Amino acid sequence: MTEPETTSEEHTICKGIGVSPGIAIGPAYLYAKVSFDVERRDIDPEQVEHEKERFEKAVKRAERDLHKIIAVTREKLGEGSAEIFEAQLMILRDPTMYPEVVSYIENHGINAGYAVQTVMSKHRQVMEASDSEYLRERSNDLLDIQDRIIRHLRRGRILSAVDEETIVIAENLTAADIILFSRRGILGCATDFGGPTSHVSIMARALGVPAIVSTHGGTGQVKSGDLVVLDGIRGEMIVNPDDETLASYRVKQKRYARLQLQDKQLVDLPAETLDGHPVGLQANLELREEIPLMEENGAKGVGLFRTEMMLLMEGRALVTEEEQAAEYSKVIEAVAPHTTTFRLLDLGGDKLLPMGHREHNPFLGWRGIRILMDKPELLQPQLRAILRASVHGPIRLLLPMITEIGEVRRFKELLEQTKTDLREEGMAFDEDIPLGVMVEVPSVALQADLFAKEVDFFSIGTNDLTQYVLAVDRGNDMVAEIYDELHPAVLQLIQLTTNAAKAAGIPVSLCGELATNLRAVPVLLGLGIDTLSASPVYLPAIKRVIRAMKLSEGEGLARRALASSDPEEFRSFMDRWLEEHACGVSFFLEGPDG
Ligand code: PEP
Ligand code: MG
Repeated sequence: MTEPETTSEEHTICKGIGVSPGIAIGPAYLYAKVSFDVERRDIDPEQVEHEKERFEKAVKRAERDLHKIIAVTREKLGEGSAEIFEAQLMILRDPTMYPEVVSYIENHGINAGYAVQTVMSKHRQVMEASDSEYLRERSNDLLDIQDRIIRHLRRGRILSAVDEETIVIAENLTAADIILFSRRGILGCATDFGGPTSHVSIMARALGVPAIVSTHGGTGQVKSGDLVVLDGIRGEMIVNPDDETLASYRVKQKRYARLQLQDKQLVDLPAETLDGHPVGLQANLELREEIPLMEENGAKGVGLFRTEMMLLMEGRALVTEEEQAAEYSKVIEAVAPHTTTFRLLDLGGDKLLPMGHREHNPFLGWRGIRILMDKPELLQPQLRAILRASVHGPIRLLLPMITEIGEVRRFKELLEQTKTDLREEGMAFDEDIPLGVMVEVPSVALQADLFAKEVDFFSIGTNDLTQYVLAVDRGNDMVAEIYDELHPAVLQLIQLTTNAAKAAGIPVSLCGELATNLRAVPVLLGLGIDTLSASPVYLPAIKRVIRAMKLSEGEGLARRALASSDPEEFRSFMDRWLEEHACGVSFFLEGPDG
């Protein structure tokens, strides 16, 4: 965990994760979420009906709020984004939760607020104790609903008194908070907790509100009214900056605004190098609600659809084949005529294991394809659902965490069997779905020529490849300094992969976070990557670099990177290169002056 730094000039820097790019400068608004602690009140038996009615009225009012939030969300972000709140609406009338509150009032003879608090806290605690970061983040939604009902029981005010033009600093925010705040014109937000995939992050990106999460106690470093610089690109918050820092950030803010205007003109232009080499630019998505954002940023298809999140949205891993087929079909239709690359469930590692299984060393344990092969009850519904959905548009199938060739061969037998079953059942599907593997374990890169004979495409996952090559946990702050995705050893494995792909005539894309590192973009093209796939908001900047370079220059830079023995020297070299070639993009590099 990173301690906030106090510099000699007395300003405080809190480091977090930038989840929505942009620079905000303004007064802080410390948003302490009103946490209602309702006292237990025993009621007379004849009051029970009245308490139940009060509960029903509060639920109705909460429904009205959510309908309003849904309307704003639809108007601002489109249909898909409103679904989070539609789900919250359903929780209000959840067939377990609602009657449980009613029976609690009846059986214990107590006030409605206490019953709501007790029942919902119990459900929340289960989610909070989960191994899954995703479920822990979703427990926030439950707290939001709980507070909303209790506020109505107390007839409290719905909107918090957040002033416009402030930067909201909170321990945690829900997606509903961010929608309401953005309507009030906040400049940005920072939260102590949360990850890039939490709803608040997705919403902040979609609404264009600069945001950072996971500041490790940022709320403890700020008072309301303090001047704050929030850098959603670097993932930093500076409290009471000195004059020099403030001035450099004001310059950076203006440059960013200019760049955004220019980016709008870039969306329809081809992602092509100066010497006419086309590069695929695709989006990494986790939820259907991100599709409008992907289109706005000019992505030509989905290079990586991580299916874990979508399935876990339901709060359970085993969503039925029918539900999955319906969801995948909607995604495919929305992305068509471009291709959607569905990655099969990559459970394990730092993601949820639905069987509640725990391991000492999960990244080297039961993960990805290993789980899928052992658990047909997970693999089969997903595979059948994806195949069935394939009639709605072009798709590709991607296997996670492949280590050895036997896994691919066994999977292909299973795939054939599944296709035979579907044919016998009279179910239509696309007979020619390309099959690819994630290249994220070094053994696959080292044997890429062997794999290239068995599959139709490669997708390099540098997030994992880096951790496995350098033996450095991708999520551990303590070793973050040695997690270097541009390390020559990582690049050598990329090179082996692209060489094998070229020899076999199959395409190779890269979908790790390295694609968003602008220093790496020319190097990756030089190494022979055909397509870069990244979170949509980063695509315009990547395109800017592509359009400012020649492929031959990329090849020279790749040679230099492979031979580099000094990462710092190479970084500075690339910074200068970008500054000279791709005017403006250096913005996304570290350092307030960009
Ligand atoms: C990767 O490992 O680079 C990757 C894209 O997969 P994930 O981040 O989902 O593990
Ligand atoms: Mg991975």
